[in-house]
Amino acid sequence: MSNFPLDLTTKNPGRWLSGAEVRSPELPKKMRSIVHMDLDTFFVSCERLIDSRLNGRPVMIGGTSDRGVVAACSYEARKFGVHSAMPMRMAKQLCPEAIILRGNSGVYTKFSKTVTDIIKESVPLYEKTSVDEFYIDLTGMDRFYGCHQFAQELRERIIKESGLPISFGLSINKTVSKIATGEAKPNNQIMIENGTEKPFLAPLSVKKIPMVGDRTYRMLCDLGVKRIESVQEMPIEVMERVFGKNGTTIWRKANGIDNAPVVQYHERKSISTERTFDRDTIDVDKLKGIMVAMAENLVFQLRRANKLTACITVKIRYSDFQTYTLQKKIPYSAADHIIIPIVLELYERLYNRRVLVRLIGVRYSHIVEGAHQITLFEDPNILALYQAMDNIRKQYGDRAIMKASGMQAKSISRWNPFNGEPPPLLANRRR
Ligand SMILES: [Mg+2]
Repeated sequence: MSNFPLDLTTKNPGRWLSGAEVRSPELPKKMRSIVHMDLDTFFVSCERLIDSRLNGRPVMIGGTSDRGVVAACSYEARKFGVHSAMPMRMAKQLCPEAIILRGNSGVYTKFSKTVTDIIKESVPLYEKTSVDEFYIDLTGMDRFYGCHQFAQELRERIIKESGLPISFGLSINKTVSKIATGEAKPNNQIMIENGTEKPFLAPLSVKKIPMVGDRTYRMLCDLGVKRIESVQEMPIEVMERVFGKNGTTIWRKANGIDNAPVVQYHERKSISTERTFDRDTIDVDKLKGIMVAMAENLVFQLRRANKLTACITVKIRYSDFQTYTLQKKIPYSAADHIIIPIVLELYERLYNRRVLVRLIGVRYSHIVEGAHQITLFEDPNILALYQAMDNIRKQYGDRAIMKASGMQAKSISRWNPFNGEPPPLLANRRR
């Protein structure tokens, strides 16, 4: 079979495209088939699989203390005006009969993996953007209607095998498909036919454009712009003048234009850091201190990029070049108090030869987007502490604040692993 996608744009659909046509920059936005899939009220659905008594009742998940916030809520609770990120205290007042659960990210990680595995073995190219959200590129697999059929069967399979409701949108790009999924929910699907993107978007609120947050929304309202149609009618220059570069992007999205590719998700997507010593060492306290500093720095990198890890690996190379690694799967997390003890535990188990060490390293893998979703279960006091520490680091540098146990490590990477730059070589530590 040819690797080239089918032509979906002309009177001659089904024709194989030539290599030159596939490479043409104008073509992709016209002929791609992109599916966006999103599990419906994912955390609530998981809880309902475990306890069916929750079915049909208002459920809220999140911090149960007065300072907690709602991480997720069922449609029954939304009817009362409850939404995620709302203070739990306010949510309780709006919907006193709701069942409130603490949430269990370990359970959600497991269900997330079940769904990911089904998608992984069914499609050639997918991107996992959070624990419950996927983009799938079906371009070239079949004609457009074939893609719809395919996506529908995949959705049915996920529902049957995982027990979780999921919705999808299918269109020519990521933005339109994501918005379509939102319109399809709960537990349904929508296909936006090629060429009908603008009329589909026109009547919707500008809030539905993925980039438009509260602030931008208020600014648009001040301009009298409430529906996407109004953005479509505006000259792109006006949007640029008011919102800068973001304005151009919002205008393009409002007009159903988005060339962003689906980026293949790798389970092993990881960040890591390691340290080779000038002179091999057996200084136990120093090794442990550097381990903590590296672990702490990498967790900060995760939080800064709104990412979570589900797998921790520790590596030790002895002076005879024997190298050992040990890894542990964990529920998705970006929290110091969860990750650093596991790094130390792995390190203690691994460092058993008591001979000179040449290198130590830490790696976090199985990384996904979406820290805000899961960290909402954490103790708000710890979250506030992380936020304060991260703000200090952002302002004064990665080493401005750290655990006392990690102070010995003199030079920890200032590299941001998520901005596409290659990692720098760590300076060796001099004695
Ligand atoms: Mg979801």
